[in-house]
Amino acid sequence: MARVVVVGAGLGGLSAAARLAALGHAVTLVEQAATVGGKLGRFARDGHAFDTGPSLVTLPQVYRDLFAATGGRLEDAVDLVRLDPAVGYRFADGTRLTVPGRADAVPAALDEALGPGAGAQWTALMERAAAMWRISEQPFLRTPLAGATTLARLARRPADVAAIAPWQTLRGLGRRHLAHPHLRTLLDRYATYSGSDPRRAPAVLATVPYAEQAFGSWYVRGGLHRLGPAVLDRALAHGAVLRTGCTARRVLVAGGRVAGVQLADGGRLPADVVVSGVDATALHAGLLAPDPRTRRVRRDLARATPSLSGFVLLLALRGRTPGLDHHTVLFPEDYDAEFDAVFGTGRHAGRPCPVTDPTVYVSAPDDPALVPDGDSESWFVLVNAPRHDPVHGVDWDTPGLAEGYADRVLDVMARRGLDVRDRLRWRVVRTPADLARGTGSVGGSIYGSSSNGSRAAFLRPGNASRVPGLFLVGGSAHPGGGLPLVGLSAEIVAGLVGPA
Ligand SMILES: Cc1cc2nc3c(=O)[nH]c(=O)nc-3n(C[C@H](O)[C@H](O)[C@H](O)COP(=O)(O)OP(=O)(O)OC[C@H]3O[C@@H](n4cnc5c(N)ncnc54)[C@H](O)[C@@H]3O)c2cc1C
Repeated sequence: MARVVVVGAGLGGLSAAARLAALGHAVTLVEQAATVGGKLGRFARDGHAFDTGPSLVTLPQVYRDLFAATGGRLEDAVDLVRLDPAVGYRFADGTRLTVPGRADAVPAALDEALGPGAGAQWTALMERAAAMWRISEQPFLRTPLAGATTLARLARRPADVAAIAPWQTLRGLGRRHLAHPHLRTLLDRYATYSGSDPRRAPAVLATVPYAEQAFGSWYVRGGLHRLGPAVLDRALAHGAVLRTGCTARRVLVAGGRVAGVQLADGGRLPADVVVSGVDATALHAGLLAPDPRTRRVRRDLARATPSLSGFVLLLALRGRTPGLDHHTVLFPEDYDAEFDAVFGTGRHAGRPCPVTDPTVYVSAPDDPALVPDGDSESWFVLVNAPRHDPVHGVDWDTPGLAEGYADRVLDVMARRGLDVRDRLRWRVVRTPADLARGTGSVGGSIYGSSSNGSRAAFLRPGNASRVPGLFLVGGSAHPGGGLPLVGLSAEIVAGLVGPA
């Protein structure tokens, strides 16, 4: 039995703690905040409640596996609902598309909204994406990153390499398979699921819409944040100890290997194994003293483009919106202008800035648990945003910036047909700076490093550090961000540590 300290009770840390405790280790989980969940947060006031982070669960089987491995059933712990329709899209030219929640119904919906042939184009793309999924799921997503070995595993068959097309971008793949411009926009959007730019992200991200449509879009009744305490319960059931309001200051190394964690309050937790669920950049820049063995990881992290951040509005609304889908996306006329602004490229080279005419994502669950009465709505609104970077980019703490930008987003929504300005009871604004402060993610990047560039997946730190006994879990480590991948990172870490 090893003494394990898990730092950070985001879903990555929670999942690792549950799995390692179930394997028989003595697990202590330390979390700086007062509650667990990290980015998977919640805000409530006056009867209105909101998820402040994730609003969409994909690949729920990852969490079914976690519950199975820790002696429970996911469905007994949370009320999972498969969404149908999955999402409503509104394009700048007025076209509306409602995507059904079942893959076999998608082509007909595309034909109806976009014209005959759109469904067939999308189906051909999804067939290619299904092949990519089959090739990459086990050897990449479910396996520790091992540099050249991983590449060799992936490149074993030339046909597989051709299907993955590592040289091709997601945008390039869309151009090849999709003639309809709205389908291309739709595909581009999936790059943002990993905080990336479709013009630089690899074609293999087509597996994201494939997984979403093949395995469904899901909601947790009462709010997705319920997943955090549910996973915590699995850890506690196996004897793990949770310490909230407890900040780790240093990962201790002695005799060349991990020795424990130094806490901000001066306490020390000796450990044989430390699992870091904090942002990998923050780990290597502060928690872990510079060590020649981590030089390469630090170099790779510096080389990678950080993922985008998000500007969030929580809107407490009086009245109801007829015909509104659970998820709605309002696209702008010029999608590329958004990526240029967020990443500081093209016409915004070197000068990232808030997006003037952003894509707006609205999550408006029809869930009585989130509203004070039947004549109210609680909307989570998310806009892609550049990270908080007062030195080289946007200083989101600049007085007036956040409130002014919130007004702008509401105006954009009104222009695109969702005018809620006169129904607003109150609003809460959350900037990338707030996200950085709340969760310790550097600059408020949502997904660690982005997938921009064909080598991006290999610049992300692996789950086993070069410092023996130190492991990395969560969205900034392999295999990446988002709830399903974070769950997979915990599975990989548990496999690397092994049973007690
Ligand atoms: C606005 C938004 C929308 C999103 N939408 C979706 C979505 O719809 N679907 C989806 O799948 N994913 C979504 N994501 C991404 C998803 O939330 C993350 O990938 C995932 O929750 C990350 O989990 P994590 O455990 O890696 O990190 P985090 O949740 O960031 O957890 C890190 C934890 O470590 C703690 N910590 C940091 N430093 C210390 C320290 N020194 N000592 C102790 N504790 C520390 C933090 O307080 C935090 O609790 C979204 C994220 C955001 C922000």
